[in-house]
Amino acid sequence: MKYNLTCLECKDTYSIDEIRFFCDCGGLLDIEPDEAEWNEIYKEKNFFQLIDYRSSRLNSGVWRYVDFIGINAKKRDIVTRNEGNTGIYKSGKISEFTGLDDVEVKHEGENPTGSFKDRGMTVAVTRAKQQNVSIIACASTGNTSASMASYASTAGLKSIVLVPEGTISRNKLSQAIAYGSRTVEIDGDFDKGMKLIIDGAKEGKLYPMNSVNPFRIEGQKTIIWEMLHQRRWQAPDWIIFPAGNLGNCSSFGKAVEELYNYAMIGKKPRLAGVQAKGANPFFLGFEKSFKEKFTVDAETIATAIRIGDPVNLPRAIRAIENTDGIVTQVTDNEIMNAKAIVDGAGIGAEPASCAAIAGLKKLVNDRVIGKNESVVAILTGHILKDTDSVISYHNKELPGIDSANANIPVKIKPEMKELDSLIKDLNKVE
Ligand SMILES: *Cc1c(COP(=O)(O)O)cnc(C)c1O
Ligand SMILES: [Zn+2]
Repeated sequence: MKYNLTCLECKDTYSIDEIRFFCDCGGLLDIEPDEAEWNEIYKEKNFFQLIDYRSSRLNSGVWRYVDFIGINAKKRDIVTRNEGNTGIYKSGKISEFTGLDDVEVKHEGENPTGSFKDRGMTVAVTRAKQQNVSIIACASTGNTSASMASYASTAGLKSIVLVPEGTISRNKLSQAIAYGSRTVEIDGDFDKGMKLIIDGAKEGKLYPMNSVNPFRIEGQKTIIWEMLHQRRWQAPDWIIFPAGNLGNCSSFGKAVEELYNYAMIGKKPRLAGVQAKGANPFFLGFEKSFKEKFTVDAETIATAIRIGDPVNLPRAIRAIENTDGIVTQVTDNEIMNAKAIVDGAGIGAEPASCAAIAGLKKLVNDRVIGKNESVVAILTGHILKDTDSVISYHNKELPGIDSANANIPVKIKPEMKELDSLIKDLNKVE
C-alpha cells in the first residue's frame, strides 16, 4: 500500500519515505493511504474476515489490524512484544460510583510496559528501524520513556529520554533506566523537554518518539479497533479517556472516523476527554469552541497528564469536532478518590487513568451523559506505575487530598488476641 504524509493545516503532501515530522508550514502530519490504491486493494474485501484471518496468525493486538495502520511492514521487520490484547471489565463498584449502569473499562495498563504507549511504540520503533535510524528520543512524564526504552532495546536501537527532574514517578523512572535508555533528568517540566525534542526534530538532529510522530498515532488507533472487536463491533455511545499531550484523543478520533467510513460501525461514539484542573489547556480551549489557544503551567498529582502545552492540539480538536465530543476537567481530589474506587474494585490503575472515571462521574451527574447511555472508559496505565501516591493516599498523607476512600493499614502485635479482635471488626463491616 502506498501512503502519504499529509499536512493537517495546508494539506500539502510528502512521501512517506522522507524522515519528516512537520510540514514546511509547521503543521503536524497525518498518514493517509493513497485513495486509488486503497480502493483497488481493499474495496471488495470483507474486513471482518480479514481481521479474523490476521488474528489467527498474529499475537499482537496491534499488528493484527495492520491493514488499517499506516505502515508497510514484513513480519521480520516488526519490533513487537505482543502488545495489546488488553481486557475489558465491568464492575458493580464502578457503576455505583459513576451512577451509570452500562460502563466498561478497557485496561491499557495490561500492555507489556504497563501503559498504552506500547501500542504506538511498536509501530514507531518498527518504522525507525526500517529507516535505519540509530538513535531515537523522547520527552516524557514517565510512560513514554518506559515504553520507548523497552522497544528500543528490543530492536537494538539507542535511545535518549528527557524527563522532568523531581516530578516523574520512581516506578516509571526505574523502567527507563533499567531497560537501558540514556536517561536525562532536566531542570524543567515536560513542556520544556518536549520543546527541545521538537526543535531537535525540526533541525533533523533527532528522531522523535513522542506522539508528534504519526506512527505513534497509527498504533494507538488499535485501542479502538480492539475494543470494538471485543464488543463484536457494537459501538458504545461514548469513549472517555484522560487527556494530556492529546495523542490518544487524536488517535481515537482518527480510528472512529475510519471505522465509520469503512462501515464497520453503524454510529460514531462520542469522545470525552478528561483533564486535570491544574493541567487543563484543552478544556479551556473547548470552553471557547477552540477559537483561542491556551497554555498553562501544569500542576497535578496525575503526572502522566501534567502537560500545559499539548503538541497534538490541532489533531485533537479535529477529533472532538468530528465526533461531537466534549472535554471536561476534574480536581486532584476527585481523581484520587475515583482511583481508590477503581483500585478497590480489584482492577486498579494509575492516577491519570482514573481521571477518566472521575470525569465520567461528573458528566453523569451533570446529565451530559445519560443514565441509559453506554460508555467505555480507557484506563491508560497500570496500578504499579505510581506506588508512592497509593501509599500516601491510604495513609492520608497527600496534601489537599481528603482520602475519602482510604483503606488505612493497621499495625498489631503478633498475638492471637489482637488478630481475633481484628477479624471480629472486619465481620461487622458491610
Ligand atoms: C501518556 C499518558 C496519558 C496521556 O495520554 P495523551 O495521549 O498524551 O493525552 C494518560 N495516562 C497515562 C497513564 C499515560 O501514560
Ligand atoms: Zn502544511
